[in-house]
Amino acid sequence: MEHHHHPEASAGQPARQPAKERKRIGDRGDFFLNRIQGEAGVNISACYQCERCTNACPVSHYMDIKPHQVMRYIQLGWREELLKSATIWVCLSCEMCTTYCPNEVDVAETINHLRNIAAQSSVAPEYESLAVFHQTFLDVLRTSGRVNEIRLMSAYYSKLNILKEKMKDGSLKDEILVGMSLLRKGRLKLLTPRSRAIKELQKAHHRISGEMD
Ligand code: SF4
Ligand code: SF4
Repeated sequence: MEHHHHPEASAGQPARQPAKERKRIGDRGDFFLNRIQGEAGVNISACYQCERCTNACPVSHYMDIKPHQVMRYIQLGWREELLKSATIWVCLSCEMCTTYCPNEVDVAETINHLRNIAAQSSVAPEYESLAVFHQTFLDVLRTSGRVNEIRLMSAYYSKLNILKEKMKDGSLKDEILVGMSLLRKGRLKLLTPRSRAIKELQKAHHRISGEMD
């Protein structure tokens, strides 16, 4: 006899629901999902994981959480994973993802919003120099009203010096490579003349790689 059916269990209250209250209290998924949907005005619930956003993204290769996964993480309430991800700093805001989404989910705006939250959050980014680079970009924009190439580069390098000890364990080299790819992909297309900014970074990259060999 494997199945014991107690008549009172099926007749009266169907089954105890011990997890119900606890589940509701601990349900951070809906809280975070609702927050991001409300603040960013994006219908993230509509995402059904077709991955077209990721396939359209020119830099998804460099992302630890792919664009379609970002949507899923938000649905699941995985706030911290998102805020410390490289993805939010790697994203170029090029809006290819949004353009290709069949459900009109504004993926680019969502990631942009996560980046803004992360910039003010105490969650430490997993790739520090990417966050430093982005923060420097914002600092220069705030102080000079526009992105000034010289100021951006000098501010970035002075901040980068702080991270120099990281070169020893090799992690910085990877981060610089990602930074280089961002420049090549036109992240800094606002900067003119563009070639000068790229040359500067290339020089720094060669210098750092040389030191590491
Ligand atoms: S906006 Fe960001 S996530 Fe979307 S396609 Fe561009 S780089 Fe990729
Ligand atoms: S393209 Fe739209 S529906 Fe498809 S995975 Fe990306 S966000 Fe979700």
